[in-house]
Amino acid sequence: MPNIVTKVKILALRTIDIILPPKCVLTGQRVDKIGTISHGYWQNISFIDEPYCDICSVPFDFHLDLTGDPTICGNCLSTPPTFDKLRTAIIYDENSKSMVLAFKYADKLVLKNIFSNWIIRAGNDLLNDSDIIAPVPLHRKRLWQRRYNQSAILAKEVAKNFTNLKYCPQLLKRIKTTPPQRGLSKQERINNVKNTIKVKEKYLNDISGKNICIVDDVYTSGATINECAKILKKAGAKNIYALTLARVVL
Ligand SMILES: [Zn+2]
Repeated sequence: MPNIVTKVKILALRTIDIILPPKCVLTGQRVDKIGTISHGYWQNISFIDEPYCDICSVPFDFHLDLTGDPTICGNCLSTPPTFDKLRTAIIYDENSKSMVLAFKYADKLVLKNIFSNWIIRAGNDLLNDSDIIAPVPLHRKRLWQRRYNQSAILAKEVAKNFTNLKYCPQLLKRIKTTPPQRGLSKQERINNVKNTIKVKEKYLNDISGKNICIVDDVYTSGATINECAKILKKAGAKNIYALTLARVVL
């Protein structure tokens, strides 16, 4: 039963909606609720659904194994990643790019609710099997420039829905600034992030034998998430899962 404060809040929000009808933050079109996106934008987003690689979540055109057993892609077979499993909500492409970048750079943080719901839909099993959830870290210099870490906002929002998860925003820290990964080859990306991330000392005793879920906005080559997984495993963590809002599919 909503209390009087909740009733007043609901009434206030309805009044605001009448005076200032909610608009899609991406297209400016009218929507039903603040923080949602218009149908016109939504219909061009490619959600990742099965069948996909059981490790890296790259989508397949059809089920490779007719028995329905989990299947692994050629890349994961030839070069197994350091993380155990990744799940991702949507494909990062020309249709979703502006939405992802608006959240990352342009303060469209109202999208956190819808994005976290998509991430939960994609990674519910991994989240239920995790003990700790943490974002891919930003170096403090870059955090100061950007004012927020979009991955931390997503991780925090997701964590609210799972009582088994401890949200640990500072589990990992960047000890060096690195040039942006954009435009680099896969090997250059790996070299670029090598030895740039550490587990914060005060958490070293908390992670032994734990399953840890790392959250990022976009999965590209996997270099950063693999580096996070490498140092967490070295520090004694059991399984490392990764959840991203979007992933590049080549
Ligand atoms: Zn794979």
